[in-house]
Amino acid sequence: MSKIMNKNIDHHCKRMTSAFSDYLDNRLKKQLCQRLEVHLAECPDCKMYFDTLKMTVTLYRSLEQEPLPEGAEKRLFATIKLARSKNRT
Ligand SMILES: [Zn+2]
Repeated sequence: MSKIMNKNIDHHCKRMTSAFSDYLDNRLKKQLCQRLEVHLAECPDCKMYFDTLKMTVTLYRSLEQEPLPEGAEKRLFATIKLARSKNRT
């Protein structure tokens, strides 16, 4: 059961993470914002990714006043996934 659930969550996560940038830019519709916040509350992986992304975006903005470089978010997510799999025994 948990395996099937994880698969569904992973699929859901991809859709959620693709909306993080818009969310941080306040460009997300209110309804989507709420769905994203609900998902963050119940998904530690996305929460960790979101916190890291938020930190990175805040840092970039304070330093460069520029958006994240192309592909940076994908690399970030891949790094987190790698760290997760390494932590598993
Ligand atoms: Zn998630």
